[in-house]
Amino acid sequence: MSVRRLRWREGGPMTNPNAHTLPIIVVGAGMTGLAAAWELQQRGVPYVLLEAGDSFGGKVQSERTEDEFLVEKAADAFILGKPWALQLAQEVGLQDELIHPRAETKKLYFLRGGELLDFPQNLKMFVPLDDESFLQSGVLSPEGLRRMLDEQNVPPKENTDEDESLADFIIRRFGAEAMNFIVPLAAGIYVANPFELSMKAAFPQFLALEQKYGSVIKGSRATPRAQGPIFGSFKDGMSTLANAVAAKLTGDVRLNTPVLAVHPDGVTLTGGEKIAASGVVLTAPAWVAAPTLGQSFPAASALVGELQTNGSVAVILAYREGQFPRDMHLHGLQVAADEGIEMKAITVHSAKLHGRAPEGHVLLRVFFKDLDPQKALAEAVHEVARLFGAQGDPLWHAYADWRGKNPAYQVGHLDHIARIRAALPPNIQVAGSSYTGVGIPDCVNAGRTAARDVVAALGVDG
Ligand SMILES: Cc1cc2nc3c(=O)[nH]c(=O)nc-3n(C[C@H](O)[C@H](O)[C@H](O)COP(=O)(O)OP(=O)(O)OC[C@H]3O[C@@H](n4cnc5c(N)ncnc54)[C@H](O)[C@@H]3O)c2cc1C
Repeated sequence: MSVRRLRWREGGPMTNPNAHTLPIIVVGAGMTGLAAAWELQQRGVPYVLLEAGDSFGGKVQSERTEDEFLVEKAADAFILGKPWALQLAQEVGLQDELIHPRAETKKLYFLRGGELLDFPQNLKMFVPLDDESFLQSGVLSPEGLRRMLDEQNVPPKENTDEDESLADFIIRRFGAEAMNFIVPLAAGIYVANPFELSMKAAFPQFLALEQKYGSVIKGSRATPRAQGPIFGSFKDGMSTLANAVAAKLTGDVRLNTPVLAVHPDGVTLTGGEKIAASGVVLTAPAWVAAPTLGQSFPAASALVGELQTNGSVAVILAYREGQFPRDMHLHGLQVAADEGIEMKAITVHSAKLHGRAPEGHVLLRVFFKDLDPQKALAEAVHEVARLFGAQGDPLWHAYADWRGKNPAYQVGHLDHIARIRAALPPNIQVAGSSYTGVGIPDCVNAGRTAARDVVAALGVDG
């Protein structure tokens, strides 16, 4: 990389008189850290990217098995409505690798009362866009369906300063029974407890619709639907993006290099080596980040350590198509919140995206909350047999064990993040899925924003 000499504005750098010769350190090479390093590189700012593990992408892990299945351990696609992941993909030349969930197999069931029900037609996430088709669906009792549609007549909340939980929001606007339908659709990506999940942090768009249109349903109906595909992915899986960014990084990039402590003027590695820096973008998850801040920033460390997590386990199952008596060309199913089973959802990966299983085979991901993986496996195999008629054992199984590793955005989350930021000097930024959004586009945006913020704090014209 040809690194331009940095031109410091008057007053900068802030912390170290030699800082203009020093790089910015990025801790962690998940999607947030890779995006931060990429942003610094685009600005000609020298950086060091330090990753504890032996690969890039963090939670994003796409693995090709010997028998040609493609297993995704976490994200399998990203939303296009938030443009940052797509933009990054284009910047690193991945236009031709982009794919979308298959429209011709877009069949999704809702499991309620032991029955696989068709999803209501014409939904935007969970919001019914017409009364008629929603009332014909069996996803709630007839009273529950009517009460949910009556949201259009519920006056908007007056006090908008106070945060509230997803559960409080649903019950207030759509009625208590609607929890059974909305929670699986809305809280899924957060694997969250709806009574704790912060509306302001997780779903500000619904609060905005409520305020602007007086109703989420009215607002959703008044806003035009995005044309074209809603999600994107890559032919060879989501790791394609992480690996493509990593391959284009020409700065100092080190794998197998865990950071032990972050200081105002650099970091200490677990081996004891110190690396001097003008600033740090810390993208390790909160439970790892908290101790690294403990020595130099005890107040911030305590606040970061207070951020809670949720657990989830995905069981990945491979079958031959012939093991199923029915057509398995469908995207999957969601389970009603009051169904009384541990399983939350199934994705039929082989039908949702091209290239995930060899011809004549079926690849499933079966999702659970915090559950022992062995128990999850037994329930997953049982449910696949019960609901889809699978005969015999799966060809193989794998786990994506994320117990204790999903950020829980609890009520008041945004205020808590503001307190963390205020407890750190502006050249030390925390960023990533623990703070401002778990989706890949949010992580990319968080990494790039944090990199820009450190550069701005240092008073450098990058
Ligand atoms: C089951 C599941 C399904 C998901 N599905 C989707 C989806 O479909 N779409 C979507 O958009 N999102 C999805 N997500 C969310 C998304 O995958 C994650 O939120 C995102 O990948 C997190 O990126 P990150 O960079 O913030 O953190 P991470 O990926 O956790 O990266 C942090 C990095 O920091 C490194 N690190 C930790 N400690 C240190 C240290 N001391 N020194 C140096 N490095 C360190 C780690 O090794 C890791 O590489 C899903 C998540 C899960 C669990």
